[in-house]
Amino acid sequence: MSDIKTCKCCNKTKKVSEFTKDSSTFDGIRTKCKACQRKVYSNYSERNKKAIANRVQERRYLAKYGYTKEQLQQMIESGKYKICYSCNMILTLDYFRTTGEGIKFTEKCKTCR
Ligand SMILES: [Zn+2]
Ligand SMILES: [Zn+2]
Repeated sequence: MSDIKTCKCCNKTKKVSEFTKDSSTFDGIRTKCKACQRKVYSNYSERNKKAIANRVQERRYLAKYGYTKEQLQQMIESGKYKICYSCNMILTLDYFRTTGEGIKFTEKCKTCR
């Protein structure tokens, strides 16, 4: 058995030690070199991690506020809503007191104060 093998992924000829052993292939070595395998895996897991994180975040927002992050952002940007830092409810500005310094509103809603 030769101690070099061509990677099916990057087409580079590398030492067998650069490949992972795999008993399911005819020569007992994976067709992809370790470097390629790592690349594929990290790409996949990175993407996956982000997708999962987004989904988790979205669900958390929905459970917490009853709105998705996007909806929430739009509501806050509209200037008509504010999140209470104490009860985490998204409420219209009527629920907040002004701090007396112009149009600034309190961090906590009237119910929490
Ligand atoms: Zn490769
Ligand atoms: Zn509150």
